[in-house]
Amino acid sequence: MLSKATRKCFSGVINGFRGGPVLFSGNARMLSSLPQDVEAPPSNRPETSNAKTLMDFGTRRILSEDHDMFRESVRRFWTEEVVPNHKKWEKAGMVSRELWQKAGEQGLLGIMIPEKHGGIGGDLLSAAVMWEEQMYSNCSGPGFALHSDICMPYISNYGSKEQIDRFIPQMAAGTCIGAIAMTEPGAGSDLQGVRTYAKRDGDDWILNGNKVFITNGCMADLVIVVTVTNREAKTAAHGISLFLVEKGTPGFHAGKKLEKIGLHAQDTAELFFEDVRLPASALLGQLNKGFYYLMNELPQERLLIADMAIASSEFMFEETRNYVMQRKAFGKTISHLQTVQHKLAEIKTEVCVGRSFVDNCLQLHAEKRLDSQTASMAKYWASDLQNSVATRCVQLHGGWGYMWEYPIAKAFVDSRVQPIYGGTNEIMKELIARSIVSQK
Ligand SMILES: Cc1cc2nc3c(=O)[nH]c(=O)nc-3n(C[C@H](O)[C@H](O)[C@H](O)COP(=O)(O)OP(=O)(O)OC[C@H]3O[C@@H](n4cnc5c(N)ncnc54)[C@H](O)[C@@H]3O)c2cc1C
Repeated sequence: MLSKATRKCFSGVINGFRGGPVLFSGNARMLSSLPQDVEAPPSNRPETSNAKTLMDFGTRRILSEDHDMFRESVRRFWTEEVVPNHKKWEKAGMVSRELWQKAGEQGLLGIMIPEKHGGIGGDLLSAAVMWEEQMYSNCSGPGFALHSDICMPYISNYGSKEQIDRFIPQMAAGTCIGAIAMTEPGAGSDLQGVRTYAKRDGDDWILNGNKVFITNGCMADLVIVVTVTNREAKTAAHGISLFLVEKGTPGFHAGKKLEKIGLHAQDTAELFFEDVRLPASALLGQLNKGFYYLMNELPQERLLIADMAIASSEFMFEETRNYVMQRKAFGKTISHLQTVQHKLAEIKTEVCVGRSFVDNCLQLHAEKRLDSQTASMAKYWASDLQNSVATRCVQLHGGWGYMWEYPIAKAFVDSRVQPIYGGTNEIMKELIARSIVSQK
């Protein structure tokens, strides 16, 4: 069920939609795609290339008016609750817990998790609206996407009934913050090289090891930990399991917040596990199936990064367009210079081409047809594009683009991590290449 606050969040935009009140089903299923037996009318929605701005409402044929309505409430959340506080959180190195709870109250966490599991029951495209609006607000602090669309699906898809009942409603409410710990100081790209080890002790497990670069690491109440459980397995991948480790469990603690060149309001930390005793019920899914679960879930993580990369590029383009139209040099605004105009034309074209491919991937994933290599293509190409757009947009801002007070400077440093996490872009090329040579 949706909380009262969530209903409130939707009801504000429902009245008057299509000229009059529409029936509110009382849950976010209204956001789901059309049932398969109903033929969708041909869409006359403009694509972003036809729209006035790349961040307009009512664009893109993969989205519907329901998504536009949802986007309005999501944009309001980012504008009113996040933007005014973000500078303060950048200084603190993390956002407030109160923000998480506000997002939970408004039904913005775990949008895709089925209602029967205590989630919101919305569709993938609604979750994408949340990812995109975060980038449009240029506020990278809250690690909502990782929590909602990377961590929660592991629990919802592989958890026991007890784990689902215990954690999903709290995670949807923002009272339990999630993190996922794969990377170790000695193993990042090579996930099969993880050393964190859980040894059986009667019915319990004793966990030892440490993880690094963990998003939401300081604030997390629940961490999904990638762990070796069988050192003698025929391959390392066959001996990896996932455990749910809760804050406060003796022997588990977060290290200091890591100082990063970007994402200043996002807490990224090292995690330490020293003889952490875990009950059998902390195992997520089946024993030694962890690697298989990771491979299943990683395409969604990569798609999410790709969509955020394109949304960030759309934001940077609009920010730069506004800047060049008011910045004067040689007696005119610099938007009069043909070289500047051509730069904008190039950026807009590339971003619209990227949007088109990523929208296609979103549609494929909504239909459960997105394969791993296509998700990898989207992640690698869109995050590289984002960085190239960031560099060109800073250049078009001149010296002001290098100043922290200008949004483009923040977008530039925040872009840099996108080709690194979620599997580096070099690893994406490995995955794409493997599928190319194995198809012949
Ligand atoms: C801000 C931030 C947040 C993060 N959040 C999380 C998180 O929440 N959870 C988590 O588990 N991890 C997280 N990570 C870790 C991230 O996923 C890893 O940093 C990433 O996978 C790369 O691993 P690595 O740093 O060990 O680099 P390495 O694996 O050491 O790679 C170094 C370089 O070698 C290249 N390389 C390695 N192997 C190959 C190969 N086979 N072929 C070609 N090139 C190769 C890489 O592409 C890279 O350029 C985060 C990282 C950052 C920076």
